[in-house]
Amino acid sequence: MSNHVRDIPGSPKESYKMLYSYLYMLEQVNPGTKTCLKLDDISKFEYLFIALGACIEGFAVMRKVIAVEGIRLKNGGVLVFAKAQDPNGQRYPLAFAVVDGENLASWTWFFEMLKSVIPDSSELVFISTRNQSLIFAIGNVFPQAHHGHCLWHLKEKVKLHACNVNKNIVGQKLMELGRYYTVDDFNSAYDSFKIRCPAAYKYVEECGIEKDKWARVFFPRDRYNLDTSNTLGSMKNVFKEATRWALIPMLDCIIRKFSDWFTQRKDVVSRSMNTRLVPRVENYLHDLWAVAHKLPVRELDSYELKYEITDAAGKVFWATLVGKTCTCKVWDYEKFPCLHGLAAYIYFARNVDGRRLDIHELCSKYYWTEMWHLAYSRTLNVVPDMASWNVPDQIKEVKIIPPDRIKRQGRKRV
Ligand SMILES: [Zn+2]
Repeated sequence: MSNHVRDIPGSPKESYKMLYSYLYMLEQVNPGTKTCLKLDDISKFEYLFIALGACIEGFAVMRKVIAVEGIRLKNGGVLVFAKAQDPNGQRYPLAFAVVDGENLASWTWFFEMLKSVIPDSSELVFISTRNQSLIFAIGNVFPQAHHGHCLWHLKEKVKLHACNVNKNIVGQKLMELGRYYTVDDFNSAYDSFKIRCPAAYKYVEECGIEKDKWARVFFPRDRYNLDTSNTLGSMKNVFKEATRWALIPMLDCIIRKFSDWFTQRKDVVSRSMNTRLVPRVENYLHDLWAVAHKLPVRELDSYELKYEITDAAGKVFWATLVGKTCTCKVWDYEKFPCLHGLAAYIYFARNVDGRRLDIHELCSKYYWTEMWHLAYSRTLNVVPDMASWNVPDQIKEVKIIPPDRIKRQGRKRV
């Protein structure tokens, strides 16, 4: 008989019986991992939380934007993920949980657990659907953090209110509105949205969706380019099949996938160590270079390294290398130079002192390869074969009653 974790019988009873032992082993092979099981007075399962040590450690060097996603399980209950995006645009798992549903009690418990591994901070931004109990729980548990609505989900809602206009055009306009870089550009596009899509405009205005919850120009914190659960990588499709399985095989599938991501990306990172910036930003700047180096640049302030740049259309921008800012605001939000910032840098390097400043210093440290490397510096281990488990008796003996929602035997994973 196989001792592999994935062959633990898929019946709910067996899965819950071995849960404490499984979590114990998971913590043993992944130092710094936090797992928490909440049982009720009669030892019936309520909630489960897992945050892998390697992921929590990696988040310390990552943009502080967390998307929260809930996925319904076939046997009832909800699988919840908190995830970030690594600087090269890959989804990065932080923590996950199994709860009874998307309600205030379960969200509050989940965020309290999350806070025990990721402390509250004014730098933190949560992105989610407009689930009121979720948003309320974030506000209570993470009072310093900020919350933004997932732009993609909002777009899907707004599309339903399109009237006499193509739904997809309404959706596209809403996404564009969410992504303008200056208030002037937003206002002018919003006026046009009001005229072209009056019913959708009315919905946005009247259902109390504050602009600072979805439009980049009004968002009070650094959200970078992360404005939808999708840009942070939906987990729903990745674990679609596993959400039909019993608890331990599902957990094992999730951890196995995260482990694979770590191994694959560790490899990509090691091949990129010869550049100071992650490939996504390196390539972006490389592509802009061909245009930027031809733009006319004029020095305005040699102390702040402020330059005036005229683009191909004759429009004038001011970019400041010391402040890492440009009047187009792209640099300010994305945290790496825009076309004008790059033109200013090229001018500086050629005419002033190229040795004084490297291009990576004009980007947020979150895009530096050395930081990216730290995010994957540890190995994420799966729970080994049961034959090698060494679980203390007092843990083995803890009884867990499966939740009421599990009424019938689950399928064995095949
Ligand atoms: Zn610019």
